[in-house]
Amino acid sequence: MRFVSTRGGETASLDRALVNGIAPDGGLYVPVQLPTFDPADFDRAGTIPQVAQVLLRPFFTDSALVEDLEPVLAETFSFPIPATALPEAGGHASLLELYHGPTAAFKDVGAGFLAACLTRLEGDETAPLTILVATSGDTGGAVAAAFNERPGMRVVVLFPEGRVSARQAHQLTCWSDNVLSLSVAGAFDDCQALVKAAMADSALAGRFRFSSANSINIGRLLPQSTYYADASLRHFRETGNKPGFIIPTGNLGNALACIMAREMGLPIGPIVLATNANRTIPEYFETLEWIPRASVQTLASAMDVGDPSNMERLRTIIGDADVLRDCLGVLSVDDDAIREGIKQDFTDFGFATCPHTATATHTWRQLDPELRSAHDWMLVATAHPAKFETIVEPLIGETVPLPAELAEILSRPSRAVSIGPDLDAVAAAMDEHFH
Ligand SMILES: *Cc1c(COP(=O)(O)O)cnc(C)c1O
Repeated sequence: MRFVSTRGGETASLDRALVNGIAPDGGLYVPVQLPTFDPADFDRAGTIPQVAQVLLRPFFTDSALVEDLEPVLAETFSFPIPATALPEAGGHASLLELYHGPTAAFKDVGAGFLAACLTRLEGDETAPLTILVATSGDTGGAVAAAFNERPGMRVVVLFPEGRVSARQAHQLTCWSDNVLSLSVAGAFDDCQALVKAAMADSALAGRFRFSSANSINIGRLLPQSTYYADASLRHFRETGNKPGFIIPTGNLGNALACIMAREMGLPIGPIVLATNANRTIPEYFETLEWIPRASVQTLASAMDVGDPSNMERLRTIIGDADVLRDCLGVLSVDDDAIREGIKQDFTDFGFATCPHTATATHTWRQLDPELRSAHDWMLVATAHPAKFETIVEPLIGETVPLPAELAEILSRPSRAVSIGPDLDAVAAAMDEHFH
């Protein structure tokens, strides 16, 4: 399989696309053509890694990793991704739990896969590859966890001081010597600007081999299609029905992975996107005009995106706007509705949901009754509520028990270097830490 930039030009191998992250022309890599499958192609695939092998093999045909696919996928899917039926919905809705990984959010899947691939492609103990990642909270923890202690790999995480939650901060700062955590006196945008500046600085780039692990890397999308394939196949085998999916959406990566799985022939029904008060995507579906905006802060902070970059991919892969309008619904859920959703979930289901997941459960309750009863629905749970306990616990009036993985991470010692928002400080901290 070859990959091409959303802005055209020459094709690249998967390995090049994984290492580059973003195409040289600033576009995003997409496969030149999606492979297609019949559900029967997966009859012998009973586990997620086995489903992933069938689904992802065509993408690896000319990759140096083609023989490594099995161990790469075993590492990526080292935790379960169950769909739990919601009895109150008469068996017609379930929660797809993407939060059983090391940092308790779905980003563990993409980060784990990218780490498994890049370590094999580029890991070099004499000249390590240095992954730079700017984070507003969730991504940096998943990337640090995925690359922690991998030979030949280093990570530098930059996060805005005082603007991430206490538990998020811990997940960004509790790793081994190959991870450097920089607490930047500034905003997320400053962190992102520093990553760009570091990669463009020839003196610094001469001393370190840089790569990035941002959310637009195709290596984050491909493995995410797998859990939609696995969940839909299971449901289809058991019931003969194609489930619909309701997906909390920010930068559109997770939803795009589901759309790609459906394009590839997996038994997936309607796909509905749930956004927070950032309305760029809902407005696009209403007006067919793409007008990026500055992001606004919400309770579902990992979805605070005003200019979702994967839209460029979606328009390339699915084609024109009419198709988009025909096949997707989208609802914007504001903070009041998120709070209501969390409370209602706790009452109805007997367990808490995180603020991101609550955009999906709220959207499910708001669906047109006819549409809701015409399909079985999978509500996508993107993070564990214990990650956002300061929001969730006052609403439900109870403590959310910590999952074991998260408890283990929070018990580790943590350390970060505080710096001002300038490149010399980043360079000095890196020299100090890595030499
Ligand atoms: C990143 C994230 C999202 C948004 O996912 P996108 O792929 O950016 O649409 C939703 N929920 C949680 C918990 C996240 O970390």
